[in-house]
Amino acid sequence: MSTQEWLDRDARVLAGVLYRYFDVVAERGQGSWVVDAEGRRYLDLAAGIAVVNVGHCHPRVVEAIQRQAATLIHTSIVVHNQPNVELAERLARLCPFLDEPQVFFCNSGAESVDGVIKMARKTTGRPGVIAFTGGFHGRTLAATSLTTAKARYRAGYGPLLPGVYHAPYCVPRPGGRGQTAAVASALAGLDQLLAAVVAPSEVAAMVVEPVLGEGGYVVPPVAWLQGLRRRCDADGILLVFDEVQCGVGRTGRFFAAETFGVAPDAVLFAKGVASGLPLGGIVAPRRLMEAWPPGCHGSTFGGNPVACAAALATLEVIEEEDLCLRARVLGERALTRLAAAAADCPGVVVDVRGVGLMVGVELTSAQVVEEVQRRCLDRGVLLISCGPHQEVVRLAPPLTISDEELEHGLDVLCAVLGEIGVSRREGRAAS
Ligand code: PMP
Repeated sequence: MSTQEWLDRDARVLAGVLYRYFDVVAERGQGSWVVDAEGRRYLDLAAGIAVVNVGHCHPRVVEAIQRQAATLIHTSIVVHNQPNVELAERLARLCPFLDEPQVFFCNSGAESVDGVIKMARKTTGRPGVIAFTGGFHGRTLAATSLTTAKARYRAGYGPLLPGVYHAPYCVPRPGGRGQTAAVASALAGLDQLLAAVVAPSEVAAMVVEPVLGEGGYVVPPVAWLQGLRRRCDADGILLVFDEVQCGVGRTGRFFAAETFGVAPDAVLFAKGVASGLPLGGIVAPRRLMEAWPPGCHGSTFGGNPVACAAALATLEVIEEEDLCLRARVLGERALTRLAAAAADCPGVVVDVRGVGLMVGVELTSAQVVEEVQRRCLDRGVLLISCGPHQEVVRLAPPLTISDEELEHGLDVLCAVLGEIGVSRREGRAAS
């Protein structure tokens, strides 16, 4: 069946509210590649939105899923299960910045956000939650209330959750310039909020993405995250890192908390942890988890044995193949190449930034980003966008991507940026 036939069937029965970036119908995935219904191969520099961090259908993950599916698929809370325990132990070891970590499992990033809001309110007895402008935390009503990456995500859904306040995210200028001023201004905005709008004694938690994901792949200065930590310490507010997108090795350490050397009170994970099976969760110190009474929160599917088995295999692959180191090395390589390409097309590229294999290329407009995506797609490379106006090309390839595959992807992207730069200059010269 042709792609068009699949797309027609899709459009008839699938709710149009679910946006898809490309009219490509995937049939298979292997490593860094997606193969469509007509056998065309695409280099996947999006990794299912930062999910298949060990590549599509990694044999170890496939084997673990198959083995667990043939053994035990589901228990819910009727009885305990072994993969649940083993995965929680492994995740706890990956959080050396937390004291006696314990894990709550759910099915998605948004659910982990909802869960941590409930946990923070219940354990502190305070109603307020502070989130940061440009942040994305998911699509449930509570997670939507924290999300300000785009007004479209909120519009028409009000009234949203009361008690949610927004402080400025710290966004340095292009090239990472003006960091000190950016930190001072963002922290002043937070202090103003705490002085004039919501008293610190009313705030249960601050929920922040250590690297802004959907909001534009912005890497904030460490000093800002340290400033949040200090304010939370001073006022008994829980600092929650939403690492749904930036966790699981992407920034060059398993959690960005380690990349930045700033310890939150709780960390949220989902996306890459189970290589595409639905799994999310909260890791927090035992003393906090123990203040969350049994039965006050729960999930039918959360921590499902098959998803946990997939996650255990994923974490083993990340460790054995040293993928955190690989994210650092390849990320540096990508930033260097893209910065050089940017210098060659000043009217096209505004900024190149990132940490590990979380790399953003800000262009002059969403139209230029669309043009880049279209031209890359024509050459078999999938690249998605982010940013408040979709003005950023985001690279989040599998951490297992080979040197040659990454070079190929960058060759295509740099060539496309160059072509657009030339056509812009010629256009200007002609006008
Ligand atoms: N938090 C962050 C930082 C995210 O990037 C996302 C998804 N893009 C979510 C939460 C929501 O995750 P999910 O789609 O699994 O609910």
